[in-house]
Amino acid sequence: MRLLVLDFLEKQSKAVSLTDMELSMEPLDRVTLFRTIKTFEEHGLVHRIEDGSGASKFAICAADCDSTQHHDLHVHFYCSHCNETYCLPKTHIPEVELPANYVALERELIVKGICAACTK
Ligand SMILES: [Zn+2]
Ligand SMILES: [Zn+2]
Repeated sequence: MRLLVLDFLEKQSKAVSLTDMELSMEPLDRVTLFRTIKTFEEHGLVHRIEDGSGASKFAICAADCDSTQHHDLHVHFYCSHCNETYCLPKTHIPEVELPANYVALERELIVKGICAACTK
């Protein structure tokens, strides 16, 4: 089960939702799938992306992520034409200056627009 899910995620060029995974890997138990993804997340194998579409999406992590920290702080791109979300591993999230006494725990950046495939 875990290998199946990992293998599937590794083949994706875009981030996928739990529903996408369910539909592509039938028959699959949703609860088991959910637990598997959660374990992957905790071990730094996948990261979760909230692109505002309502469903969390997941993508495989870069090799240097581990259970203590996700190191792939990259920008995600949501295409409003094809409704897909892509990891942009070479585009890093810029540091943001916070007011005094504000402590950042996570940084996320979603850029919305038209992806490379759709602008062609
Ligand atoms: Zn697109
Ligand atoms: Zn990503």
